[in-house]
Amino acid sequence: MGCPEGTIYQLGKKRFDVNLDYCKGCGICANECPVDDIDMVLEAGCEEPVPSGGGKGSDSK
Ligand code: SF4
Repeated sequence: MGCPEGTIYQLGKKRFDVNLDYCKGCGICANECPVDDIDMVLEAGCEEPVPSGGGKGSDSK
């Protein structure tokens, strides 16, 4: 995945997560996701949206 901050990491064969401590909320990952599985949402207490993971592309479903 094309995160310029390197915050996206793989948990399983088709499962990924984001280290929100380093996410800038730029939205590049959501725009580039090949399965359109990243939604940008406002994190509590933040003014910029951050990606949310764990959708249809994850192994957990
Ligand atoms: S929104 Fe966050 S995780 Fe996504 S590309 Fe930007 S810095 Fe990386």
